[in-house]
Amino acid sequence: MPKNVNLDEWRGIWVYAEQRRGEVSPVTWELVGAARRLADAVDTYVAVVLIGDGVGRYAEQAFAFGADKAFVAEHPELAEFRTEVYGRLVVDLVLERKPEIFLLPATTQGRDLASTVATDLACGLTADTTQLEMDVEKRMLLATRPTFGGQQLATITSARWRPQMATVRPKVMPRPEPVPGRTGEVIRLEVGDVGADAPTRVLRVVEESNESRILDEADVIVAAGRGIGSKANLYLVEELAEALGGQVAGSRPVCDAGWLPKARQIGQTGITVRPKLYVAVGISGAIQHVVGMMQSGTIVAINADPKAPIFQVAHVGIVGDLFKVVPALTQAVRQRGRRAVLETVGG
Ligand SMILES: Cc1cc2nc3c(=O)[nH]c(=O)nc-3n(C[C@H](O)[C@H](O)[C@H](O)COP(=O)(O)OP(=O)(O)OC[C@H]3O[C@@H](n4cnc5c(N)ncnc54)[C@H](O)[C@@H]3O)c2cc1C
Repeated sequence: MPKNVNLDEWRGIWVYAEQRRGEVSPVTWELVGAARRLADAVDTYVAVVLIGDGVGRYAEQAFAFGADKAFVAEHPELAEFRTEVYGRLVVDLVLERKPEIFLLPATTQGRDLASTVATDLACGLTADTTQLEMDVEKRMLLATRPTFGGQQLATITSARWRPQMATVRPKVMPRPEPVPGRTGEVIRLEVGDVGADAPTRVLRVVEESNESRILDEADVIVAAGRGIGSKANLYLVEELAEALGGQVAGSRPVCDAGWLPKARQIGQTGITVRPKLYVAVGISGAIQHVVGMMQSGTIVAINADPKAPIFQVAHVGIVGDLFKVVPALTQAVRQRGRRAVLETVGG
């Protein structure tokens, strides 16, 4: 990266399309939606970067969600993500085309790639952003993220370097409505014998637990906090979740204690979810928990303490003993039927 970057040479907002086994992750479309909003503010284009084997078919979907261009690099050697191979491709493309902003998902793959690319480009990178805005006059990305253990929000800018890079957690940005038939430009990249000299090879892919993916897709989540008292009492939230056709999750103390698997932890050091209905049972509402669920459609909180901070984000608050409230709620859901209850909360 040259010392004096001519900022005017850098235009366009890019999104890295994360793929696994040839399937692009839904977070990509959330980032395309955010990129579209930022691009419209400064009148520039949105591009997705599709790298893999047979991923070009996703260009159409990218256009429908708001992209104007798709850079497509396809090769059997690119089927599985490898940091150094993908990183080199992305760095070369960035230096050639000069995007002003580059967004990646704050997933394991996205974080790995973003840090490699930012290091090679010697540009800034704001990790785990929860809010993206644009200083239109300066064409500067205002990337906001929790800091100091989640107690503060910091807005970070990259005034003198390009691209301005940021990673964004899945489910933090809303997924835009696709516009069928919206078109764009597909730019196929020459990849030659890419990856042939890479020091790593993928020999076998071992599927990780899909627990967190289950929560990603759940419309209803019933989450247990320390107020539940012990693992033996978890059946209360399990029964309510079952009655609502939802999934069980937990706060950090619950997962740290081994009452639920770590992959079920919601929050800053867990996962971010956006279900239609989130029921917080015996959860105080610490900011580190709230950042992981505050985007949920309807939040119902059950807590004995009327001053618990969870009530500040809850749409429906029930002050009471969870050992009485939860079984009564479960029974009511069973009697009235899941659908009627979900319709009431807009689910
Ligand atoms: C860097 C960092 C990262 C963190 N990351 C996360 C994270 O990802 N996720 C996370 O959850 N936390 C995280 N934490 C921890 C967080 O600060 C809180 O300590 C945690 O969220 C508290 O969990 P809790 O609400 O279950 O427990 P508590 O704060 O102990 O709250 C228990 C609640 O249950 C209520 N209660 C008790 N008995 C009953 C009853 N019988 N009926 C009804 N209500 C009852 C109490 O009134 C209380 O509000 C993090 C902390 C740090 C410093």
